[in-house]
Amino acid sequence: MAAIIDAGYFVATLSFVGGLKFLSTPKRAQTGNILAAVGMGLAVALTLYATTQQTLPPVNLLVILMAMILGSLIGWFMSSHVQMTGMPQLVSLFNAMGGGCAMLLGIIEARQVGVTAIALNVQLLLAGGLVIGASSLTGSIVAYYKLAGKLKDNRSRILVYSARLALTLTIGLLLAYSFGLLPISFMGVIYLLAFLALAYGVLFVLPIGGADMPVVISLLNSLTGVATALAGLVYANKIMIAGGIFVGAAGLLLTLMMCKAMNRSLLKVLAGTFAKGGGSASAEEIHIKETSSSETAMQLAFAQKVAIIPGYGLAVAQAQHACGQLQKLLEERGTVVDYIIHPVAGRMPGHMNVLLAEASINYDRLLEMDEANDHMDQYDMVLIVGANDVVNPAAENDENSPVYGMPIIRAYQSKQVVVIKRGMSKGYAGVENSLFGADNCNLLFGDAKTALQDLMGQLKLI
Ligand code: NDP
Repeated sequence: MAAIIDAGYFVATLSFVGGLKFLSTPKRAQTGNILAAVGMGLAVALTLYATTQQTLPPVNLLVILMAMILGSLIGWFMSSHVQMTGMPQLVSLFNAMGGGCAMLLGIIEARQVGVTAIALNVQLLLAGGLVIGASSLTGSIVAYYKLAGKLKDNRSRILVYSARLALTLTIGLLLAYSFGLLPISFMGVIYLLAFLALAYGVLFVLPIGGADMPVVISLLNSLTGVATALAGLVYANKIMIAGGIFVGAAGLLLTLMMCKAMNRSLLKVLAGTFAKGGGSASAEEIHIKETSSSETAMQLAFAQKVAIIPGYGLAVAQAQHACGQLQKLLEERGTVVDYIIHPVAGRMPGHMNVLLAEASINYDRLLEMDEANDHMDQYDMVLIVGANDVVNPAAENDENSPVYGMPIIRAYQSKQVVVIKRGMSKGYAGVENSLFGADNCNLLFGDAKTALQDLMGQLKLI
């Protein structure tokens, strides 16, 4: 029996590997997702089957089944009702649940110490999983509120120092317990650790600036994977170890790639160190020029090479289909149209790619920021649709700006720029954008979808 379960776990592990491989290209991402989900279903079914083979009180099995049904229903309901713009918040919530599970596992298993003899190394694995899970739980909840715009950045130094204190105390407590220096029981240590780790999660994420949020989300995701792998080691459950390692490693790689894309070192993000801010141009200093859809359509009609830069506003307006239709219309007129995607455009890694894929936009036309940046002057026209921070020149030329150092798409280098947005609101990082006042830049005010539809209407008349 054990051999069959192990063979099933092996198949599930292979499906995770295949799923991850497919997820690395947008064309096969959906297949990858399904493959990994099937693998996870298999792993859960096998684990449940293994549980039924043990002599468990029937009530335990009932609780497990009820939890599975309830969890599946809640997950299905949340995923099917979420808007595309709310996806990052949903990811954060799911992450919080993973962290919470790891913390509860730690607490429940720790209660066995004293009843059953548990080796010190296993106790430390339990404690490690609990600490990581608890900080992922509260950290992800704070990230959720920040992404939903319900919680603003709090850049107080006191928070940063309190987070460091909580982390130091947690590590100190773990070390002291391992060397037998504490006069309290393991259960007491576990409760103290849970308290410190829960506090650390809040204190660690609260001061992190808007521009660093993508890194934090991906890191929290990775941490949940590590907590799962540690729990897998405690239970000697191979699929938990494999799944946890995949999530942990993939999340960490993504975190490092995000850090690179934002020119931030991971240590600086974790330490909560940030640029001073406040030095960027204020709204009064920026003299904007407003344009109309007829004028913009005229510019587009005469352009030979156009780039579209999508941002969070495109997601809010659900304007991806309108964008694809405008692209088609321009291509029919012989215009070359590229999309330039910034790695942190939107509110989660890959947000723009997913949206454009939804509108069946050809991947050959998608350029990464680095591919496009050296040739921006070739574009007769750049159309920025609901993007702001990712094209802000302050990231290159204003050392006092909180976004300074973050690589941007150099839209300002193109011949003409038109930015579609509803008003003069700032982007996620909360800073003014000096691009809006540039000589070659005009603003087309309106909701992204409506503005693109108006543009198409005007273009058809030319
Ligand atoms: P920004 O948040 O910088 O700007 C979005 C702009 O869209 C706003 O200026 C807003 O202006 C405009 N907008 C909003 N709604 C609409 C609408 N319906 N129609 C037209 N325009 C609209 O977005 P970017 O994509 O440029 O930058 C992403 C930011 O999010 C970065 O700071 C990044 O660090 C952060 N972030 C990214 C994550 C990721 O993983 N990708 C995760 C977390 C944060 P107005 O209201 O005036 O219309």
